[in-house]
Amino acid sequence: MASQFRLGLKGKMSLLLALLLVFIVTCLSVLVLRGIRDNQRTMLEQSFSRQAEAANLRVREEYLSESKIPPDRFMEQTGQRLAVDLGAQSGMAVTLYTADGAFAGTSLPFQSKADVQDALQYTAQGHSAYITQGDQLLFLAPLYNADQRLGTVQFHATLVEQNAFYARICQLFILAGATVLGVGFLIGYVYVRRQVNVIDRLNKAAVQIGQGEYLLTLPIVRKDELGELAQGIYEMSGSISASVGALHEEKQKLIETVGRLRELEQQQKQFIGNISHELKTPLTSIIAYADLLTMYSDDPALLDDAGRRIHAEAQRLYSLVEKALQLSAMDVYEFETRAESVSLRPLLEEAAARLQGKADSCGVTIHTSLVEGEVWADPENVMHIMLNLLDNAIKYNRPGGQVRLLNYVAASAEGAQRMRIEVADTGIGIPKEAVSRIFDPFYTVSRDRSRASGGTGLGLALVRNLTEKQGGTVQLVETGPSGSRLRVELLLHAGDSNKTIYTADDEGADS
Ligand code: ADP
Repeated sequence: MASQFRLGLKGKMSLLLALLLVFIVTCLSVLVLRGIRDNQRTMLEQSFSRQAEAANLRVREEYLSESKIPPDRFMEQTGQRLAVDLGAQSGMAVTLYTADGAFAGTSLPFQSKADVQDALQYTAQGHSAYITQGDQLLFLAPLYNADQRLGTVQFHATLVEQNAFYARICQLFILAGATVLGVGFLIGYVYVRRQVNVIDRLNKAAVQIGQGEYLLTLPIVRKDELGELAQGIYEMSGSISASVGALHEEKQKLIETVGRLRELEQQQKQFIGNISHELKTPLTSIIAYADLLTMYSDDPALLDDAGRRIHAEAQRLYSLVEKALQLSAMDVYEFETRAESVSLRPLLEEAAARLQGKADSCGVTIHTSLVEGEVWADPENVMHIMLNLLDNAIKYNRPGGQVRLLNYVAASAEGAQRMRIEVADTGIGIPKEAVSRIFDPFYTVSRDRSRASGGTGLGLALVRNLTEKQGGTVQLVETGPSGSRLRVELLLHAGDSNKTIYTADDEGADS
């Protein structure tokens, strides 16, 4: 199976650095070494030119001092001697040739076997020539007397020293090159490693963000482009986190809304089922009494009884329909609730007054203990709430019992100032098992008892709905065999929220 080899940034940069260093060191070495070689050559050429000039001078002097003989003869006769002289003078082995290229003499103990014919032809044209053979260098230069060619002088030089020097320099360069390469690569590698580590950290930060772990601090602090990139990633993380948070919040709200809608739908279904059932009961009674009326139209006692019962059932039907309409209208026409500043004391007095007749007929006394105060609510709704609570307090009371209505400002559970209205009675109380359900629509503790008192099971449901619509709360504070106490909390009108807390004991007298 082919291995998935992947050359990382660190590897690539290191390789690039190594190649770059090798290239630079090689270029530098080649250039410097070539310079050295050229320099050696120029110095050698200059030295040979000087030697050649000196040799030419010496041969010309000798030639001019001789009685006029042709140059070839001159060279043949004096070549050997002159070669030895010139060898001693220059410190190099010297060989002389005639202008035709024939051997004329040498300072060497033997005759050189080097093939110099091409070079001799070249010097015949007036040029100097070089021939290298291993460590040996032959330099050939023409000899002149004015325009007349006398022959050719050949110097034998050894390159051993130059070559040894060049080899030493080469070694030095290889050593220096290797050192530069090694140290340079090491420094470069450490630097590249540090940069790549920084990139690795940024990469990890990006992966972290991808997994939903947003950055709390900058991944790296630097004053260069990588630092700017880190800052960018950090800010991006912040805005993603904020957007995701907002999205999550929206989603949560949506889930809650859907849940609430389902709940509402369920409640509506239950409500329709209940109301149909509740409407059927009084209607069945009315039909039954109507039948009796037609069957026994001559019985005055029955007529009277049936008439009263039909009236009572029709009354119950009426109040049932009215409350059901109010309840359903609240869900549908929510915007119709109009909050305003409501002066509470007169409103509560009015509510108590409206139920005074009912209280009298039930033998119940209403006491009020009221303080001034403005609430922010719909006055119609507050009136409905109070009428229902007072109605219950009278209905579920005992003959000779009492109802107490009071209001005061106090801090709510959240610590904000609220207006509290309490309705307490000395009635029959609510059984423990029913306490959690009394605010449910159509819930009645005892169907017979409610029916007897004209109850529908919708009163407290209406109260709760209305209070919550005002931004308030309603709760059963206490209940027992000696009575119950229900409390409504409403928003204070802004102007009143800073008022001192009043309690029922501070102000107001029983009426
Ligand atoms: P209803 O029209 O039957 O009075 P409500 O919703 O007003 O319906 O009340 C629900 C139930 O709570 C009633 O059936 C009643 O038994 C009980 N209840 C309400 N208020 C009181 C109270 N002040 N004292 C005793 N029981 C009460």
